[in-house]
Amino acid sequence: MSTLARAYVAHSPTEPLRPGTIERREPGDFEVRIAIRFTGICHSDIHTARGDWASARYPVVVGHEIAGVVEAVGAKVTRHVVGDRVGVGCFVDSCRECANCLAGEEQYCLAGSVSTYNSVGRDGLPTAGGYSTSIVVDENYVLKIPEGISLEAAAPLLCAGITMYSPLRNWDAGPGKRVAIIGMGGLGHMGVKIAAAMGAEVTVLSQSLKKEEDARRLGAGHYYATSDPATFDALNGHFDLIINTVSANIDVDQYLSLLALGGTLVLVGLPTEPLSQRAWSLASFRRNLAGSKMGGIRQTQEMLDFCAAKGLGAEVEVIPAHEINEAFGRVVASDVRYRFVIDAGTF
Ligand code: NAP
Ligand code: ZN
Ligand code: ZN
Repeated sequence: MSTLARAYVAHSPTEPLRPGTIERREPGDFEVRIAIRFTGICHSDIHTARGDWASARYPVVVGHEIAGVVEAVGAKVTRHVVGDRVGVGCFVDSCRECANCLAGEEQYCLAGSVSTYNSVGRDGLPTAGGYSTSIVVDENYVLKIPEGISLEAAAPLLCAGITMYSPLRNWDAGPGKRVAIIGMGGLGHMGVKIAAAMGAEVTVLSQSLKKEEDARRLGAGHYYATSDPATFDALNGHFDLIINTVSANIDVDQYLSLLALGGTLVLVGLPTEPLSQRAWSLASFRRNLAGSKMGGIRQTQEMLDFCAAKGLGAEVEVIPAHEINEAFGRVVASDVRYRFVIDAGTF
């Protein structure tokens, strides 16, 4: 037996999302059903719904920053009980056997992890994400949201938070490290908060000066507008680590020039078109160009616990479901401070 959930559905790259219903299976032995309370709007939802990545299977229900409460558990579930505050991020399953899964890096599962939406689950059915009133997920892919973070501030941590936390940890952001974040949107603002909480010296590189006051309030020590060519002269060879969150193409060479000896530019923004760079930009000062995708389940829980301990959550604007299409437009126009979160009670 399945249950019906209300949802907002993308039917094609060009149509607005529309209300609809989807079926959720009854939880299996090791699964939980979550009553969704809040879902963040990640730019990846927009890329998918609008067909930017040419991989969308319509109709699709996007949303992978999910926070809610457990409302039913399968017979053999041990990790969660009804009433627990929980979250679901970008993937809901993986092979559990490959070297990467065993290392707790399920997002890099060699068999391909099962994305929360626009993927096919073990049951052979398409997965549908968090723009809905409920979701059924294996208990091992469900995170605990610590007391002390509200569910609306926690939802964006499930993608934006972990996508920034993981490279910051991996490349040792901390005291004595100069870290720059390019783009202060959903990912970027969490990058500022987390890097500052780790003790790094944080600089924001934003298109304009409009977000400077906010950036400093969130923990940035420095702020520059990338529209001003003087920025690139002033910061030449300055950073140990730069994380690029921009959803459009950037001039990679220009940003590589800001790295110190052995520094690393990590790409987490996923624009549609290929990026290019000169070999010389890397060879000079032995620089590195890298990428990073979300984080594993273990590290996601570590990130949630870290955020709770440091009193961090996302800066959110909670919206009703009927404002999703308008919110998409505002995200694309970089007009979001700093994450739209949908109140699932309004689907
Ligand atoms: P977002 O909220 O739209 O933030 C992106 C920010 O980039 C904007 O706020 C803006 O910041 C800057 N920006 C936008 N367009 C720009 C342009 N044309 N030139 C220069 N800067 C521009 O998006 P998000 O949700 O943070 O996601 C960012 C990207 O990361 C998306 O491509 C998304 O798909 C990707 N993503 C990747 C992962 C991963 O695991 N690797 C996970 C989640 C999301 P300023 O106003 O400060 O300039
Ligand atoms: Zn995302
Ligand atoms: Zn695997």
